[in-house]
Amino acid sequence: MLNNKGVVIQIQLSERQKKIIDIVKYNEPITSENIAKKLELTRGTLRPDLAILTMSGILDARPKVGYFYTGKTAFSFISEKIQKIKVSERKSVPIVVDEETSVYDAIVTMFLEDVSTIFVISNGFFTGVVSRKDFLKNAIGGLNLHKTPVAVIMTRMPNIVVTTLEESVLDAATKIIEHEVDSLPIVEEVAKDNGDKAYKVVGRITKTTIVRIFVELGNNE
Ligand code: ADP
Repeated sequence: MLNNKGVVIQIQLSERQKKIIDIVKYNEPITSENIAKKLELTRGTLRPDLAILTMSGILDARPKVGYFYTGKTAFSFISEKIQKIKVSERKSVPIVVDEETSVYDAIVTMFLEDVSTIFVISNGFFTGVVSRKDFLKNAIGGLNLHKTPVAVIMTRMPNIVVTTLEESVLDAATKIIEHEVDSLPIVEEVAKDNGDKAYKVVGRITKTTIVRIFVELGNNE
């Protein structure tokens, strides 16, 4: 269970606390006096239970109004938190090469930069993606790696799944899973001189980014 400060506390609810939750759920807002009446107990007896339930975030107490059920479980706290994290907060630096770069040089870049996906641009605009599998497939296929530009083997726009700085990491992670890719370019839409729509790459989000967030949430950081 997470309390309202996002701190994990182990909480085993007693039968009485579960009954209190049910009463509040169906009668909110309800005063402690009325909860006590329904349970045929004194307010004093209930005080520690109500303190635990409000501290843990299950109930919300409003002075002079009474208790409300927040409906918040540990899971809804976590999902709320994930939905709030924006791609802009977790973006990594994109590794980018020009379309003219040879496949060989792009492979060297991949090793030097320690990434599994490289983004490709032409005249500064985003045009495609090359990944490890693209390199391997073409290398075993006997392609001349020195003479072939990366543009020949890349996956090209508009067939690229992208994200934006404003999107939530949950939506970005959903795209990664649904499209079975390792990373997403973070793009910004711009207008070319001739008015056509184009994209600039401003970052990347990878499976590692998502796993890191998962670990942080698990460790409650
Ligand atoms: P790897 O090759 O390292 O397993 P991926 O699974 O990400 O990496 O790539 C698989 C294929 O999907 C490759 O052909 C690659 O060009 C393409 N690809 C990679 N990222 C994207 C993306 N964001 N949108 C569309 N296609 C992609």
